[in-house]
Amino acid sequence: MTAFISEPARQTPVIHETDVLVVGSGPGGLAAALAAARCGVSVTLLERFGCFGGNITVVGVEGFAWYRHEATVEAGGIGLEFEERAKAMGAAVPESQSLSYELDSEGFKLVADRLVEEAGIHPMLHRQFVAPIMDGDAITGVIVESKAGREAILARRVVDATGDADVAHRAGAPTRTTPVERMQAASVMFHLAGIDKAAFMAGVRADPQTYRDWSSGEWQVETDGKEDAMFSPFLRKPFEQAARDGVIPAHLDTIGGTWGAVHESGEMTYMNLVHLAGCDGTDPDSLTRFEIEGRRQAMHAIAALNRYTPGCERARLRNFGMSIGIRDTRKIDALYNMTEADVRGQGRFGDSIGIYPEFIDGYGILILPTTGRYMQIPYRSLLPGGVRNLIVAGRATGGDRISHAATRNMACCAVTGQGAGVAAALSVQRGCDLREVDIGELQAGIRAQGVRID
Ligand SMILES: Cc1cc2nc3c(=O)[nH]c(=O)nc-3n(C[C@H](O)[C@H](O)[C@H](O)COP(=O)(O)OP(=O)(O)OC[C@H]3O[C@@H](n4cnc5c(N)ncnc54)[C@H](O)[C@@H]3O)c2cc1C
Repeated sequence: MTAFISEPARQTPVIHETDVLVVGSGPGGLAAALAAARCGVSVTLLERFGCFGGNITVVGVEGFAWYRHEATVEAGGIGLEFEERAKAMGAAVPESQSLSYELDSEGFKLVADRLVEEAGIHPMLHRQFVAPIMDGDAITGVIVESKAGREAILARRVVDATGDADVAHRAGAPTRTTPVERMQAASVMFHLAGIDKAAFMAGVRADPQTYRDWSSGEWQVETDGKEDAMFSPFLRKPFEQAARDGVIPAHLDTIGGTWGAVHESGEMTYMNLVHLAGCDGTDPDSLTRFEIEGRRQAMHAIAALNRYTPGCERARLRNFGMSIGIRDTRKIDALYNMTEADVRGQGRFGDSIGIYPEFIDGYGILILPTTGRYMQIPYRSLLPGGVRNLIVAGRATGGDRISHAATRNMACCAVTGQGAGVAAALSVQRGCDLREVDIGELQAGIRAQGVRID
């Protein structure tokens, strides 16, 4: 049985007031803050860590648009701006399997700083959201905790871009969570130094891997068939061989995945190789166990690469992501929850706030947008039930498992972020609830920011 203590009531200082408060600064939150600020309202971007960027910078997820092929149709907007700005600032390199650029997870910290500064956003790093401030069913601000103690921030609208729907959940909005045994795997990401690029690439050319190679043994991936023969920067053979030879524990079937960018300097980044099932990203005890186990397995992966992969003989760990990467936790039960049929069948909605190509990656499905097919994202999927003045951006928007395999992707999080930001600004400017925003005016505002919505 859980024991409880009672905390005394306390006075909490109000340290800041803003029109729009964005909580969390991943692709969803960063896009939301930029979009709202560019509409002319005051915006504050709150982040628990020391940099903006979310999974890009915190975890080291660099493949922002690795789905992009010649026929791919997409929204443009702030997502594309992230890539373009990163390229201009030397923080992106061509991606190996697509017509996109891979973001540099360290360089993107500077890209995000610059974008935030230029937009006049009030930056607040190193403060963690811990509780909503409520007036009946309306959120009016948040309580944060930091080295400075417990503080209050008041806001007219709040964008929950925490990835885990922390704000919506604590404000009492209904959320849905995939049972932990069916959640997408978590990954400890790492970057390497000491690669011989020429030898590594020669090895890749000598034995090119395809998306068909993703399916073997227990790991089966459904495709459309058109993906199967396409090149994929996939690595599994070295780990299977290492297990057979006793170089790594024989029972480890969790190592396998993709390599990211190989740099002339001998660095190889975005090593997405360790996939751990059963991690609950909202349970710190689970996170603690899986961080430690993930690091252990990453070192096994490096040992196998050293032994069996050309060009990796002298590879060594450069760094881990600052945090384990979590793909799947709470999602809001939204006014409209997107469905598998929407993402597989080019869903169309009168309240579209942006489009996203037919790219589905997760829960054993991989469909690449090589055909020009795309879906629309409905505004209602950003609106949580039960709580006013609150909107959600990023991977916690409403939808079933398979729709999440599309909407969780970073460029789609930027689409929902930009839509949420414009909506939050408009609802402040018009003095109306987020649910009463005029859809035509919202869509015009989003289009004016360069986003394709139909
Ligand atoms: C290992 C891994 C590989 C992936 N690979 C790809 C890929 O190749 N391509 C792709 O498109 N997507 C990929 N994804 C998915 C993608 O990274 C995420 O779905 C996406 O980043 C979600 O964006 P977001 O803005 O919703 O949240 P996040 O990027 O998770 O950002 C949330 C931010 O909120 C902050 N935050 C959270 N809680 C609080 C709080 N209480 N107070 C203050 N701040 C808080 C966090 O610190 C973080 O900065 C991958 C994910 C993982 C884990």
